[in-house]
Amino acid sequence: MDKSLKSILIKHGFSFKKAYGQNFLTDTNLLDEIVEKAGVTENDTVLEIGCGAGALTYALSKKAKRVVGYEIDQKLKPVLQETVGDCKNVEIVFGDIMKQKLTDVENKLGGEYIMVANLPYYITTPIIMHFLENAKKIKAMVIMVQEEVAYRLAAKAGSSDYGAITVGINLRGNAQVVLRVPREKFTPSPNVDSAVTKIVIESGKFNGVDLTKVRDAVRCGFSSRRKMFVNNIMNTYKIPRSEAENCLISAGLETTVRGESLSAQDYVNLSKFLPERANKNG
Ligand code: SAM
Repeated sequence: MDKSLKSILIKHGFSFKKAYGQNFLTDTNLLDEIVEKAGVTENDTVLEIGCGAGALTYALSKKAKRVVGYEIDQKLKPVLQETVGDCKNVEIVFGDIMKQKLTDVENKLGGEYIMVANLPYYITTPIIMHFLENAKKIKAMVIMVQEEVAYRLAAKAGSSDYGAITVGINLRGNAQVVLRVPREKFTPSPNVDSAVTKIVIESGKFNGVDLTKVRDAVRCGFSSRRKMFVNNIMNTYKIPRSEAENCLISAGLETTVRGESLSAQDYVNLSKFLPERANKNG
C-alpha cells in the first residue's frame, strides 16, 4: 500500500472490516486509468459509492466537476478528512447507500451523473438493480467487482454467464468489461481478481414500454434455469400449457426456448402477450 495512505490509516487507528468489503486501491496509475475508462470529464458530476480511504475519490476529483461520495463506515471520517478534505469539489455523506432515498441522492447530485463504485460483493446486485430500475438521471455506471461478476454483467444471451441482471442492464443500456485488476492491487488482497464493467445508459431505450411487466417476465424466465420457459410461464402466471405456448408463439419465439437464450428485445416482445400476474407473491 502507498506509504502515506498506510500511515494515515495507522495514525487514525483504522482497522479493515471484512463485512464492508474493505479492500482499498492505492496505485495512482491504476486509479487514473479507472477514471479515464469511466470517461469522466470536467463537465461531469460523479456519484461514488464506498469511498474507503479516498484514493479513487481523489483521482475522480482531479477530473470531475463535482464528486459526491457515500461511505457507510464512520471510522473513515478522519481518514477521508485528511485525504480529500481539501478538495473543494468533493462532498462525502456518511451512511448506507441502500438506506438513502434515491430521489434525495439524485436531488443532491443536481443533474445527470456518472456512478463510479468499487463495490463489495454483498451489495453488487442490489445496488445495480436498484439504480437500473429507479435512477432517473444516471448516464453510466462504472463498477469494479470480482472478475467473474464483471463478465456476467456484460454476458451475451445464451452464454452460461447470462442472467436476469444482464437482461436488466440491456433493458436500459449496454455493458462492457473495460479493465482487469489483479488481486495484488488491493490492500488487503482479496482471494479473487477484479474487473471494471462500464454500463452505458441509453436514454430512451425501450421508451413507452412497461418495464415493470418486462422485469416480471425476466424473473419468470430465470426462475428455473433448467426448465423450458413454457414451464416457468405456467408456474409463474398460473396458466395452462396451451396458453403459455401461445404467448411464446405470439412473440415469435419457439415453444421450446429457455429464458437464458432470450435477448432484452425478446423479453419486451413477450411481455406484451403475458397476462397480468394474479398474485405477485405467489
Ligand atoms: N473506493 C475505495 C477504493 O477503491 O479503494 C474503497 C473500496 S472498498 C472495496 C468498498 C467501500 O465501500 C468500503 O470503504 C466500505 O466501507 C464501503 N461500503 C460498503 N457497503 C456500503 C454501503 N452499503 N454504503 C456505502 N458504502 C459502503
